Amino acid sequence: MISLQKVLDSVLCLAFPQPCHVCGGEVDGLSYGVSCSNCWAETRLFDSGTLTSCYKCSYFFGEGGESKRQFYCSFCSEDTFDLVRCVGLYEKALMKTVLHLKNVPFVPKYLQELIVKTFQLAPFEKVDLIVPVPISKVRLSERGFNQASLLAKPLSKMTKIKLDETALIRHIHTKRHSPGMDKKARQMSVKQAFSVASPEKVKGRNILLIDDVFTSGATASNCAIALKEKGALKVYVLAVARAFII
Ligand SMILES: [Zn+2]
Ligand SMILES: [Zn+2]
Repeated sequence: MISLQKVLDSVLCLAFPQPCHVCGGEVDGLSYGVSCSNCWAETRLFDSGTLTSCYKCSYFFGEGGESKRQFYCSFCSEDTFDLVRCVGLYEKALMKTVLHLKNVPFVPKYLQELIVKTFQLAPFEKVDLIVPVPISKVRLSERGFNQASLLAKPLSKMTKIKLDETALIRHIHTKRHSPGMDKKARQMSVKQAFSVASPEKVKGRNILLIDDVFTSGATASNCAIALKEKGALKVYVLAVARAFII
C-alpha cells in the first residue's frame, strides 16, 4: 500500500525536483534525501546479506556473505567496543547523504528506516541507552548541530530507547581525520578526547553509540574506554557508513 507520505513526497519532488548528488538525475522522492532511488539501490547495504564483514567491527572483506560463519579481521582485536554494525558501505547514496548531513541538519526518512532496520538486525543484547558520538564545543558552535545526534533521535523515537546527548563529552578539539592518517595516527588524535559527564547514567548499562561514519574505530574505541571506565557493560556502535580503509 502506498502511504500518503510517499504520495506527498513524490508530488513535492515533481514540483521541486533536485538533482541526485550521485548521478545528477532527478531525486524521485523527498524521503530519499539527496540521492535518487536508483543510486540508493546501487549502494551496498549490510542487510542484503551479500557482504562479508568482520563480526566485531564490520570491516568489509568483499562480496559473497551468505555463509553463516563468523569472520574476524585482525585490526579490531584491541578495540574496546563490543560490536559495530553499519547500514552500508561509504559509497554512492550513503556517502553523499553523510556528506550533506555535515552541512544541512536533515536525515531523510529512507535513511531513518535503514538505521532502525540495521538496529533490529544487529545481534546486540538489550540496549539501555543511545549515546551519539559527541563533537567538541568548538565544532558544535561552527556547525550548529551534531550530526550523530540527528541520526540517533529517530532511532530513539522509534525504538523507545532513551537518548542521552550529554552523557559523553568530547573535551579535546581534534583535527579532522584525513584519509592519509593510519590507525595509529587516528588513535593518537582521539586518545583521552572523551569523558563521561554523568557516570550514574552509564554504570551497569549497555550503551549504543551512534556515528555517521565508522573509519578506523579509534573514535568509537576511545568512547568505549571512557564509558567502560565508568562502569558501562557493553558498548555497541551503530554507524551509517562503513569506510573501506583502516
Ligand atoms: Zn542518482
Ligand atoms: Zn574487525
